[in-house]
Amino acid sequence: MADDSVQATLEREEDVPVIEAGFTPISNITVVKKNGRYVGVATRRIKVGELVEKGGFVALPYRSNEPDQRAKMLANFLPVVPCSCETCKIMGPNLAVPTGNMIYCQFSQNANLDISFDNSTATFEIRSIAPIDKGDELFIDFAKLYPKNEIDQEQMFMQQFGADGMGNS
Ligand SMILES: [Zn+2]
Repeated sequence: MADDSVQATLEREEDVPVIEAGFTPISNITVVKKNGRYVGVATRRIKVGELVEKGGFVALPYRSNEPDQRAKMLANFLPVVPCSCETCKIMGPNLAVPTGNMIYCQFSQNANLDISFDNSTATFEIRSIAPIDKGDELFIDFAKLYPKNEIDQEQMFMQQFGADGMGNS
């Protein structure tokens, strides 16, 4: 026999959904075909520092330094969740699948977009780091998401978790 009280609790939880504040996806990126390939371009003129896109992301269980070459292939066009823990230093950070049109923006070291992640809400924000005209092609540099040396690791850790590792600066 099923426990009636447990069953009743489950039904009650299903009846009363818990609604909390979420976020509204924003995009000023549209997609055009350039030389047979989809690329992201600006829907309007954008000033430096403006929000270009906001969306959610899902962190994959795959890391950028997996021995599996497929993870490295994915790392060529997916961002990673910045993290400087010991596992991430060795295995690379987790790949992230972002929602939104930024997935069509090409990777470039001369980027006009900057991406940042908020792990607590599983959202990302993309802001312009150069003046952008309507129709301009948009580029992101994911390299900065990968810590490069000990000092970077430390700074990234401080930014993400605070000086004491508990979110306090
Ligand atoms: Zn980590």
